[in-house]
Amino acid sequence: MNVWIYTLGCRLNQCESEALAQAFVSAGHRVLPSAEGCPLCIINTCTVTAKAEQKARRVIRQCSRTPGVGAVIVTGCYAAVSAAALADIGDNVFPVGGPAKSALLQLPAYLSGASDSEAGERVRSFCTGLPASSDPFAFAATDFTFHSRAYLKVQDGCDNHCFYCRVRIARGKSVSLDRTEAVSRALALQAAGYHEIVLTGCNLTMYGLPGEGLAGLVGDLLTALGPDMRLRFSSMEPDHIDPPLVELLSDKRIQPYFHIPIQSGSDTVLRRVNRHYTAAEALRIIGDLRRVRPEAFFACDVIAGLPGEDDEAFEETKAFVEECRFAHMHVFPFSPRPDTELYRAKDRPPESVRDARAEQLRQLSQRMHAEYLASCSGTQAEVILESRLEGNLWKALSGNYIEVVLDDGPGMHRGDLVKVRFPHLSGKEETIKVSRV
Ligand code: SF4
Repeated sequence: MNVWIYTLGCRLNQCESEALAQAFVSAGHRVLPSAEGCPLCIINTCTVTAKAEQKARRVIRQCSRTPGVGAVIVTGCYAAVSAAALADIGDNVFPVGGPAKSALLQLPAYLSGASDSEAGERVRSFCTGLPASSDPFAFAATDFTFHSRAYLKVQDGCDNHCFYCRVRIARGKSVSLDRTEAVSRALALQAAGYHEIVLTGCNLTMYGLPGEGLAGLVGDLLTALGPDMRLRFSSMEPDHIDPPLVELLSDKRIQPYFHIPIQSGSDTVLRRVNRHYTAAEALRIIGDLRRVRPEAFFACDVIAGLPGEDDEAFEETKAFVEECRFAHMHVFPFSPRPDTELYRAKDRPPESVRDARAEQLRQLSQRMHAEYLASCSGTQAEVILESRLEGNLWKALSGNYIEVVLDDGPGMHRGDLVKVRFPHLSGKEETIKVSRV
């Protein structure tokens, strides 16, 4: 049977979709790049913002009405918190969220031998017998359909309680993959020829707590993996980035890219939304990371217009992100989420102010990105080849997260690790052409 898998949201969702795709392919089904010709569609959703949910509903509605689509399975965080509303979109829409989600990995075998016209009925009967809980670490792809690097899910859920966040409701308490098992999965990915593993989790720095935490796992991985393997972190909440972890990050096999969800640079706002650090602490952590990896690309998430963000607090956030010199900021206008403490917060700035602040932050992000690019002029980096363009040109991504084009002659393959040198960069380039060293 042909299946379309569409993913919204974070790297954890990407990682889980990869495992689903592999399960379908292994069972003899075909994963296609669009819903056309697919009796089954799987939409892996996100609930971080109202906009992400709106987009999911639009895609689900379109699929549900596409002739020939017998079943639309909706999974991911939005399905975990709003199953009933999603099921109302169409008779052929089946939400599978929360703890039952990994049972979907059994669906490909269940559909074996089914004709296209049986997709709806088979999925309906599969969904009536779903277990109340299953293993969040069953999502363990070893072959990646949508990416040229490998993703390894080592953590899920979150024990923090940020007052704006619905993801912790969707994903539940923090759980970690056993360390020995994580290392053996990483070794299997290395043996399969991957040169980069992205460690993913809902709150990755909560891995292995209480205990040695993420540092324990990273130490074991660096001991076990060979010199040509690279590790990247999906995103790291500032709390729990501890000195043992920072010291391990000096290993050159760790990609110089750190994504820190800062959200605000104002202590008043951080307290108001129940984040567990102050701006000064976050600044110190970023300084520590810079000390061990001065060349790194630092990215952050920042939310404009959080409750309690007055003009002074916003100025503090702007000064803070400038001091951190983030090379990229993912700017989210605050979106009040149902079932969270801040859903009906009265002290949030008007939407026009929120949007104007988001725009200011985006412009700041552009400027700091250009400055970071310029600072890479003439430096060496490593890239992973992602896809072949025309001729011998390859689209590639550097360890420090810069998209480049490499003209490298024949004989290269997707996923290869190549050393390159950046040309002189003004920071305004649309395309960055690099040469091999
Ligand atoms: S750290 Fe906060 S924002 Fe991130 S998942 Fe946990 S509760 Fe949500």
